[in-house]
Amino acid sequence: MARAQWRERIEAAAAERVAAARVRSRRSVGHRDGARVEVDGRSLLNFCGNDYLGLSQHYAVVGALQDAAAREGAGGVASHLVCGHHALHDALEKELADWLGAPRALLFGSGFLANLAVLQALLGDDDVCVQDRLNHASLVDAARLAGCKLRRYPHADAEGALRQLRAQPEGLALLATDGVFSMDGDIAPLKELALVARVQKALLYVDDAHGVGVVGADGRGSVAAAKLSTAEVPLQLVTLGKALGGYGAALVGDADLLDHLAQSARPYIYTTALPPAQAAATLAAVKLARGEHWRRDRLAELVARFHERADRVGLARLPSDTPIQPVLCGDNARALSMAGTLERAGYWVAAIRPPTVPEGRARLRVTLSALHGVADVDGLVETIARARDRAEAEARVAEMGLLASA
Ligand SMILES: *Cc1c(COP(=O)(O)O)cnc(C)c1O
Repeated sequence: MARAQWRERIEAAAAERVAAARVRSRRSVGHRDGARVEVDGRSLLNFCGNDYLGLSQHYAVVGALQDAAAREGAGGVASHLVCGHHALHDALEKELADWLGAPRALLFGSGFLANLAVLQALLGDDDVCVQDRLNHASLVDAARLAGCKLRRYPHADAEGALRQLRAQPEGLALLATDGVFSMDGDIAPLKELALVARVQKALLYVDDAHGVGVVGADGRGSVAAAKLSTAEVPLQLVTLGKALGGYGAALVGDADLLDHLAQSARPYIYTTALPPAQAAATLAAVKLARGEHWRRDRLAELVARFHERADRVGLARLPSDTPIQPVLCGDNARALSMAGTLERAGYWVAAIRPPTVPEGRARLRVTLSALHGVADVDGLVETIARARDRAEAEARVAEMGLLASA
């Protein structure tokens, strides 16, 4: 046996990525202005951000950030349990709990950290976490960190969840699901899952990173839209970096559970608090998200328009009523080709490939924002149809080339 060498390891991994058309590239945004972004000196219409309500550059949100930063500084200074916890954090936690109708909220550095915290603080070797197969990567990693058993069920299949829980009758059980699925845009069957959790005495945890602000009355998210309360969903995740246009996350729910997390979750204890100015910005954003219904009305109008136009040109869209509107492309090369055609035409849409989505399910993940107009959506759909036809032609040419050389 010889010591493995890191350079060989990463070179092999890089070669595999190239062969599978899985190389990811990072683009630098030079300037952001609403739905428009400047990339490499060109202005593109952005259809891949998560700023669904268009709040990240709202003057009231940016103004709150600036005011608070001028008074309180740019940083978080320390962790919450040392001296980093600020009155602005308290105010935001109270506002989030009030909005979602829960007893308490607890802020975290990010949604990824909050998911690590929940599972690490609640589950150990003898416990089980049952998850939807399409849950966010952070929930899968969280189960690994917790050291618990991880069992997955087919997407949106409450009976599958029931079977998995029945097979693990001992220890604590956490049933974890995305509220709105991040790559598919559909909503989990929360009413059925709540029933399963009750029958199996499992704790239901809903990661509503893409639901809060967007789904349900007053944007209270997919849990409220399913008419479930803290009794049925003792814990849910709200992220502050998507519809709320800021950065960070909060867990909202049962006060005793959140106390336990604040006392024992390592990703809460051993990390710096969010900058108070960021809390002030999100507080302003929550007030807008709660009160300004026109943003959700506009989104609903754009989603309906996207469906109508996409169906007219026969796009392979997935069924979704949220601002996440995926269009399946098949293989990775085709997804990349389509994203390239779109960019040349002035539209920025992300090509999402495995391992983020299952093999053979590469897609364009279109995201709509209240900042888009109806004409923007029309132009996008037309261009996607053109990109699809072009990728199809490219694939035929490649096939003929292979035949000729065989
Ligand atoms: C984005 C996302 C997260 C992670 O949240 P961050 O605040 O970006 O770390 C967690 N879960 C889901 C479903 C997400 O989409």
